[in-house]
Amino acid sequence: MQSQNPVFIPGPTNIPETVRKACDMPTLDHRSPAFARLFRPAVAGVRRVLKMTEGEVIILPSTGTGGWEAAITNTLSPGDTVLAARFGMFSHRWIDLCQRHGLRVQIIETPWGQGAPLDKIEAALKADTSGTIKAVLATHNETATGVRSDIAGLRRAMDAAGHTAMLFVDGVSSIGSMPFEMAAWGVDIAVAGSQKGFMLPAGLAILGVSPKALAAMDTATLPRTFFDFRDMLKSYAAGGFPYTPPVGLIAGLARAIEMLEDEGLDAVYARHHRLAEGVRRAVAAWGMKPCAVTPDLYSDTVTAVLVPEGCNGTDLVTLAAQKYGVAFGVGLGEVAGRVFRIGHLGMLTDVMVLSGLATAEMCMADLGWPITLGSGVAAAQEYYRGSAVAMAMAA
Ligand code: PLP
Repeated sequence: MQSQNPVFIPGPTNIPETVRKACDMPTLDHRSPAFARLFRPAVAGVRRVLKMTEGEVIILPSTGTGGWEAAITNTLSPGDTVLAARFGMFSHRWIDLCQRHGLRVQIIETPWGQGAPLDKIEAALKADTSGTIKAVLATHNETATGVRSDIAGLRRAMDAAGHTAMLFVDGVSSIGSMPFEMAAWGVDIAVAGSQKGFMLPAGLAILGVSPKALAAMDTATLPRTFFDFRDMLKSYAAGGFPYTPPVGLIAGLARAIEMLEDEGLDAVYARHHRLAEGVRRAVAAWGMKPCAVTPDLYSDTVTAVLVPEGCNGTDLVTLAAQKYGVAFGVGLGEVAGRVFRIGHLGMLTDVMVLSGLATAEMCMADLGWPITLGSGVAAAQEYYRGSAVAMAMAA
């Protein structure tokens, strides 16, 4: 039954049964108090996951890409300058989206496998003595390369430069799975999507917006209608939505946050770290390396594995899908073919990850790659055995 295998793509992630059930509900009048009773806990929950102390949560029927667009169109005007480092497919796509909206993007080209270059960002901000740069864009977790950037450090760099630009962070593949501190890091807009750490189907863009970013709405002139925060906030205040909301997904979001909080956010982050570390031990046992160049950059939600010379990562992904019914992520853009990606986020356990590692090994052996069957699995088993956290059986 191939359909029952877990997926190992870095989103959309495996959907817990209880979340699927919460999404599956009869039609509800979204202009009735019943909707407000459903919506308010979801908004309050997002606020807690993002660690917000002020500002507003915006939930849009969209995906992460829509969240990027909403962030810039609500706060910026044509011709404004934003600063962004490009070090993977998703940082690239956000830059492209800004350019297509008529923003000027000051790009810091950075080798794929590295993270946001804090020193270069600080220098660029220091050099901008006229305050041309309105926002710094940062991809917290570059899903294409499995690289986590240091957002707390980025805030320190911005403060050290004494620059007043807003800080917009793409947390699509980190939020809900790795520590995220919107208030403490001084993030002005955080963007998440429903289909990764929140373990839902795709369909929601989830944003945290600071008071500074909310104030920028008043002067921003980039066109927006569907994504206009002002309409959203006006309707939210009355317990409603400016148009027809995806009620089932919102119900699922509240349930997913309950699950995360029942486990405990810190425990969720620790679990993701353990799962990721087991994968990294397996990769090392295969004699391979993550694409992320140094351990401080390793992502706890996705590992992009550099494949041996003469091998093609996409072959492994194709074979895994066709022969074993298991989904891994292909390499994207500059690293297409050079990596395959193992997603290890959302609803996953040690045992599930071991099955993914075992499948990857079978594919490597099938393709004649130079590995020994069981080597990576054994390394991960040793690590998981030694660091196991007692698991209550799911009800
Ligand atoms: N940002 C990151 C880091 C992502 O991983 C993705 C999708 O994988 C996106 C943005 C785009 O999100 P979506 O595909 O939900 O539009």
